Amino acid sequence: MRIYLDHNATTPLRDEVLEETTRVLRDVYGNPSSTHAHGAAARATVERARERAAVLLGAAPAELVFTAGATESNNLALHGWGDAGHLVTTTVEHPSVEEPAAALEARGWRVTRVPVDPDGRVDPEALAGALAPDTALVSVIWAHNETGVIQPIEAIAACVRAHGRARLHVDATQAIGKIPVRVDRVPCDLLSASAHKFNGPKGVGLLWMRAGVEPAPFVRGGPQERRRRGGTHNVAGIAGLGVACELAARELAERGERYAALRDRLWAGIEAKIPAVRRNGDPAHVLPNTLNVEFTGAAGDVLVEALDGEGVSVSAGAACASGSIVPSHSLTAMGRSPEQALASLRLTVGHGVDEAQIDRVLALLPDLVARVRGSA
Ligand code: PMP
Repeated sequence: MRIYLDHNATTPLRDEVLEETTRVLRDVYGNPSSTHAHGAAARATVERARERAAVLLGAAPAELVFTAGATESNNLALHGWGDAGHLVTTTVEHPSVEEPAAALEARGWRVTRVPVDPDGRVDPEALAGALAPDTALVSVIWAHNETGVIQPIEAIAACVRAHGRARLHVDATQAIGKIPVRVDRVPCDLLSASAHKFNGPKGVGLLWMRAGVEPAPFVRGGPQERRRRGGTHNVAGIAGLGVACELAARELAERGERYAALRDRLWAGIEAKIPAVRRNGDPAHVLPNTLNVEFTGAAGDVLVEALDGEGVSVSAGAACASGSIVPSHSLTAMGRSPEQALASLRLTVGHGVDEAQIDRVLALLPDLVARVRGSA
């Protein structure tokens, strides 16, 4: 059986999610906006999911807007604030924040990108220093998709609150289901999530917006979601998101421990068996499931292919743009050279991964790394 160590790219559906999603697809086919009984059943399904998500996040249900995933949530969070202003963000954002930020910049916004240290962390004081009288929005990734680095989000939120006027958007897509994420404990204003990153279905997510914080709609076209997001609800997807939230709330502590044990076993084995390796990202502030490693001198994309050939799915610290391999902008923002970034792999554990799989990967890796290094 293949081994899947790419849980930050996406996760397998939990059986409980699959069952609920299938049941809703089959049985609850009404339109939630219809006034008849079929509509009411669909509406109740959507609202139950909203309550489940609210419990996980410590939010009020009415503050949650369902979207087609975190890319849409991030676009809604960034685009809804008018024609001009000042945005503060970081140099390590996901493209679904970075590209809307660049679009705002092209429209006349000022954008300040606060750098990270070599461990991938933002200094809250540096962020506070970037806030200006006209700062309308701050957008920070809570936990990084490639390195797993967790930002000091409480301290950042305190700085933004002290500023007074700016709103804080947090891209919590990778944090949810892995570490506690509660908007009643962190004074932020907007928070993005995506179900497929925590064992829910793809193509469904949410944006939490604190009461009174109302970005202009990004997807217009109807009265759904209190006019904050038009379009007929993805009822089955939303129901699946709800179940995934309920599972995450119930299992969070246990998941954290189990994932960290697997991740630490993997790193200990890599460090013991393979020379010239280096961990990327602050090991004291990292998601329990994420390991990012530079195999110095090895081409990451070739290593990914070699592992793939042996039945192991992992991801490289690089993206493929127009057919050429470009180094991860987040790793270079941490001061890694392009060569170092290109030699890095992301190995992420999650539901279904066990010790035997980790040991199998550890049995394969030393030879594959040596072979890929040798062919350089
Ligand atoms: N933000 C982060 C940090 C992510 O990792 C991802 C998914 N790679 C997204 C946003 C976009 O999520 P979605 O796939 O739901 O659009």
